[in-house]
Amino acid sequence: MKPGQFVYHAPRTIDEAVAMLAAVAPEDGRVIAGGQSLVPAMALRMAQPAHLVDINGVAGLDRLEVEAGELCIGACVRHAAFARSVVDGPLGPLLSIVARHIAHLPIRTRGTFCGSIANADPASEWCLVVATLGANMVVRSTRGSRTVAEPGFFQGIMTTALAPDELLAETRLPVLAADTRCGFNEFNRRAGDFAIAMSLAAYRIEGGLIVDPRVGVGAVESQPRRIPEAEAALRGHAPGAECFLAAAQAAANAVRPIDEKPELAAYKREVVRAVVRRALEAAEKSA
Ligand SMILES: Cc1cc2nc3c(=O)[nH]c(=O)nc-3n(C[C@H](O)[C@H](O)[C@H](O)COP(=O)(O)OP(=O)(O)OC[C@H]3O[C@@H](n4cnc5c(N)ncnc54)[C@H](O)[C@@H]3O)c2cc1C
Repeated sequence: MKPGQFVYHAPRTIDEAVAMLAAVAPEDGRVIAGGQSLVPAMALRMAQPAHLVDINGVAGLDRLEVEAGELCIGACVRHAAFARSVVDGPLGPLLSIVARHIAHLPIRTRGTFCGSIANADPASEWCLVVATLGANMVVRSTRGSRTVAEPGFFQGIMTTALAPDELLAETRLPVLAADTRCGFNEFNRRAGDFAIAMSLAAYRIEGGLIVDPRVGVGAVESQPRRIPEAEAALRGHAPGAECFLAAAQAAANAVRPIDEKPELAAYKREVVRAVVRRALEAAEKSA
């Protein structure tokens, strides 16, 4: 199928982009970044924006650098940029591992990190990273600039704190301390498919015991989130099979899968148990 008719706009600066967005947002004008979610949705007529504001020619949106302890990821930074380690310490290799799980290479060369965050698919790997590690989203509009933190940015299935006339200019991820152990695991039926469930785990060790545990689960509920019950099962324990299994079981018990059929929800819990345990094992191996 072909998309419906739309007017194409190609701003060159952020100010131009937000001015155009403000003008067309009331008519369902949308930003287009990599187009890897929006264009298929338009082709299927699930989205019929009357205007597209293409941000690919906007100067400065390809910024990918560390500033004040945060990795700043501009709106036009592609998934593929993370194939190499982009930041010193454990965060760089973690992002490389996660990026490999997003779709296929052609999609990764075009789709953007911030596009994934704005799109807020519950099964987005980058949304899981943002939900688990925390992040600041820098949002621009004709009203100025504001920063929205996660938790708080994601508000449900494909729903965020962004207003229709706001541009997500940059996502800022905290750079992980050098002694952070972190791991990621995702399960799907075929490489490149959206995950059935995925988990990201991170913690540090002090005196042989786990401190600052973070366990996130994605592709199961309406948005990825940290699982406090799993983190409590890790905090203050020596890393190893016993507490990893306890955390994995706690996560499986805590999640509320969005699948309508009860047997699918039970299956998802089983997968959650597996991916959380594997993410924790991967974190331990990263030490
Ligand atoms: C076959 C296939 C498989 C895929 N598999 C996966 C997968 O396994 N995991 C995964 O995470 N994704 C997957 N995707 C989606 C892909 O990662 C997209 O690139 C991503 O979801 C959106 O990024 P984009 O830059 O392409 O955004 P676009 O498609 O350009 O935009 C998506 C939405 O976000 C809005 N938007 C984009 N950028 C901004 C911005 N800066 N500010 C405000 N709004 C903005 C747009 O208006 C639109 O509503 C897959 C896509 C395809 C086609």
